This record gives sequence, C-alpha cells and structure tokens, in this order.
Amino acid sequence: MERAPSSSNFIRQIIEADLASGKHQEIVTRFPPEPNGYLHFGHAKSICLNFGLPQQYGGRCNLRFDDTNPEKEEQEYVDAIMDAVKWLGFDFQTPLFASDYFDFMYRAAGHLIERGLAYVDSQSAEEMRASRGTLTEPGTNSRFRDRSPAENLELFKAMKEGAFPDGAHVLRAKIDMASPNINLRDPVLYRIKHAEHHRTGGKWCVYPMYTYAHPIEDAVERVTHSLCTLEFEDQRPFYDWLLERLAEGGLLERPLPRQIEFARLNLTYVVLSKRRLIQLVEDGHVAGWDDPRLPTLAGARRRGYTPEGFRAFAEQIGVSKANQLIELGVLEECMRRHLNEVAPRRMAVLDPVRLVIDNFPEGAQDLASVPNHPQKPDWGKREVPFTRELWIERDDFQAQPPKGYFRLFPGNEVRLRYGYVVKCLGMENGAVRCTYYPDSKSGTPGADNYKVKGNIHWVSAQHAHAAPVHLYDRLFKAANPGAERDFLEDINPESKRTLIAQLEPGLRAARPGERFQFERHGYFVADRDGFNRTVTLRDSWTKP
Ligand code: ATP
Ligand code: MG
Repeated sequence: MERAPSSSNFIRQIIEADLASGKHQEIVTRFPPEPNGYLHFGHAKSICLNFGLPQQYGGRCNLRFDDTNPEKEEQEYVDAIMDAVKWLGFDFQTPLFASDYFDFMYRAAGHLIERGLAYVDSQSAEEMRASRGTLTEPGTNSRFRDRSPAENLELFKAMKEGAFPDGAHVLRAKIDMASPNINLRDPVLYRIKHAEHHRTGGKWCVYPMYTYAHPIEDAVERVTHSLCTLEFEDQRPFYDWLLERLAEGGLLERPLPRQIEFARLNLTYVVLSKRRLIQLVEDGHVAGWDDPRLPTLAGARRRGYTPEGFRAFAEQIGVSKANQLIELGVLEECMRRHLNEVAPRRMAVLDPVRLVIDNFPEGAQDLASVPNHPQKPDWGKREVPFTRELWIERDDFQAQPPKGYFRLFPGNEVRLRYGYVVKCLGMENGAVRCTYYPDSKSGTPGADNYKVKGNIHWVSAQHAHAAPVHLYDRLFKAANPGAERDFLEDINPESKRTLIAQLEPGLRAARPGERFQFERHGYFVADRDGFNRTVTLRDSWTKP
C-alpha cells in the first residue's frame, strides 16, 4: 500500500506551522466519545491520532466524555471507554465531562441572548422543519425571532426552571435563515428535556445541543486543534461563529481552537457503525460486545489483537481528507508483524491423529529441546516430552500423496521438528505407524546425515493438554457488508469453528491474554475457555 512519509500528513503540517509561528507553544487535542456504546476500530484511529500528536509535538490530549445527551449515556460505557484508551497505551489525566461545563454553557447562552444573538423559539417541531428551507431554497424567519432580549432571558430562565414540557420551546442562535449553509440557519442551541443525567442527576431540564456544546467544550479546555471526521465540515462555520462571539464578549480566551476534519476509517469486511454493532449484539449474531469477531476494542482484546498493532496500523494508514476504505488485511498484517515479534512459539495439533513409533520403547520418554523463538536465541529453549505415541495433524499424512507432497506417506521420511526423523509405514487402525532413527535427533551430530523435505510438528499423546481452540474468521463474507442486501445476510456462516486441540503440555499454564504462535498455524491467545485464533500466519483472503 502506498503511503506518504508520516510527517507530511496535513494535520502535522498545520501543527508544525502553528508552532513555528508562535501561535501555540504546545498543542492540546481531545478524544471526545459519547458514552453511549463500546469503542470500535474507527475510534482507535481517532485515539491514536489525538493522543499521538501531543506525544510527538509536546502538549496533552484530553479524554472528554461528550455527555450532553442524557438519555443514552451510562457509566458502564464510561468505564469501558477509559479501559480501552488505557489498553491502547495512552495516558490521560482525570477524564473530563462535557456535563461539567453545563453552568458555563448556560451562562454563555444568556450572554448571546443579551447581545441579540440568540432567541427563544416557540414554533412547533413541524413548523421549524418547514421553515428551515432546503438546499436550494432559503428558510423563513420564525415569528418569534424578534422577541426582545429581556423577554428571551425570561423565557430561557423559565425553561431552565422547569416551567415548560419537553418541546415547548428551544433556544436558537440568531444568524441567517437565508444562509446557503443550512447549519447557519438559526441552529438550535438548547432543548427542554426532563430527563435524569448520569452525572448531573435532576439538576437540569434543558440540555445543550451537540453543535453548541462541542465548540465550547473545546474552548474551555483550551484545545488548540479539534480533530473530527469529515461529516462535521459543514459545522465548522458555526463552530467559528460561536467561539468568536463568546471571545468578543470576553467569555473565552484566545487563541481559539481550530476544527480540522479528517476522513473516518472504513474497513473491508467490517461494519463500524454503532447502530449495526448494537444490532449484531442484541439479535445474538455474536456472543456480546467483546465477541472476538466484533470490531470493538473489547472484542479485539479477546481476539488477541495488540495495542502496538493498532498504533502501527494508525500510523500506516495516516490521515487524509478523502474517505478511505482500507483492506482488513492491512490491519491483520500489522497484528501479524507485531505478534511475530512478541509471541513465543508453541506446538499445537488442531486436528489430531495418532502417530505410533514402532521401535520407540514403550513407556520411555525423551526430551526435545525447542526454541521459544527461532529468531531470538536469547528467549531460550524449553524441553518438550517426546514419546512413542504422538499427536500429529491429520493432513500431515496421506495414504496416496498428491504430487509435490513431502510429508508422511508410506515409505517417506519426515522430521518431527526438534525431534527425530521417522519413516512412515502406513495407516493402521486409525493411527499412522512409523519407525524412527535413533541417531537423527535435532541438535546432535547425526542429524545432518538425514536430508528430508518434510518437517512437521507433534505433541506427546500422554502429556498433551486437550483444550478448545476457536478458529475465528471474518464476520462478513462481503467486502462491503450491506451494499447489495441487508448487511445481516452478508454474515459469514463460518466465522467461528471450535475444535478440541492437543497442545504441548506447557500451554496448560497459559493465563488469559497470553499470546503464542502455534507453529505452522498462526497466532493464538489464551481466553477464558481455551484459545482464540488471532490471525493466520499468512493472509488467506487477499488474492495474490
Ligand atoms: P458511530 O458513528 O460509530 O456511532 P460516533 O462518531 O458517533 O461513532 P463518538 O463517540 O461520537 O462516536 O466518537 C468519538 C470520536 O471518534 C469522534 O471524534 C469521532 O470523530 C471519532 N470516530 C468515530 N468513528 C470513527 C471512524 N470510523 N474513524 C475515525 N474516527 C472515528
Ligand atoms: Mg457521534
């Protein structure tokens, strides 16, 4: 995949210019999730970007919960989000909450009213919709638009004090109902909502709209660069209008934050919308928010994905102004590359068949000395028991070998890796039979006398740890789920397969979260019940 050198991305260029001109001495970004769901891979991109920039340039990134929507938000999500950010490897000071600025936002609204920049509108929702105009036609002024500041102040105060039911009035900015940008046609700043808030309880019955709250949150925190996804581009004029007015009035300090938009992450074979993720969980297509097949960070963790892999991925895909659709294989390759560095090697037989070595004494036990990582001698070796009866992979034996098959078939010789060379006799009573060459053991001088093409893994049957192994695959079989039919019909029916595998004995002690490479198979992570496959050794989806 093509990519520009990292320092050339357009956000870094803006930051470098702002530091060079002296506009800022350090930079402040923020990651502002709404605590109404679990974080997904798209959020990981935003987290890596927002937390990564101050690490590079100096400054800080705030974790701020955008909790202005009282009905959908919960403490459970707040906790899960903090967890996920820490898991990705980023530190934040005390988390901040938009709701902590409700008093200031209310005061700022009063200031706008006093200056004739906001008014209470008492039209019905339908009237408001109808008078907004369209993309091609201007809107029309509300008949309440010319209320005096004194009347507006009075009404707004009464709204706050609970004098009216939901929907009776709203507070709107007074800008321009004919603006070509619909977002400037007197956007709503406050609505009445008699609802308990997860942090402020029953204190408020008016709540700020996201478009009003977000710029203020940024400015109060002295954010320098407010990074958001492209859908917010049309909101930028209002963002700037609002902050300018409040700075003029002395309520905010300059320099004001600057909103910068970047393309959201889209991945093939994955859905990254909260609405669809909720549907997958609630309709039971997956086993919960942390199902290893889901593109949530909670799922990724159980899948065995690594924070380092996500950070490398974010760096590799960079940021752009044009919407990007990234191959899932790119993310998987980032995981594979990191796991190759950190995962110790183990032997695991996923589809076991017995191998009996006729001339190996019954009851005897030898030890094979097996490197924990072939490229990292300092990781040492471990001793693995080698006995007369072993488990090997079913497809490592063929009674009638196809052309180019070098593993076990009658008459052929193969190395049992780190152990001995065996000669295959055939299959008998469901077990492969062979004899071994006692002087062929790996690491001994005799080993070099044996030249064989096949080299297969094994586990001693007597010592093996039998455990469930879950083979996960892509949750969707279509690259763009939902493009041609309902996205649920694109679900891959074979996204999970569970086997009872025979593992080398040391894996009995694996603790949940420990990652391994199972030789010849891929990367696996220990989970609550057995092991999950994180990713195969090679990409089996993308056509070469
Ligand atoms: P969704 O659209 O899945 O519901 P959201 O944008 O509503 O997500 P928020 O909690 O509002 O979720 O998002 C927090 C931050 O994460 C926002 O700044 C948003 O821009 C960013 N973000 C969300 N989805 C993506 C994505 N796919 N790629 C990059 N950034 C994203
Ligand atoms: Mg959102």
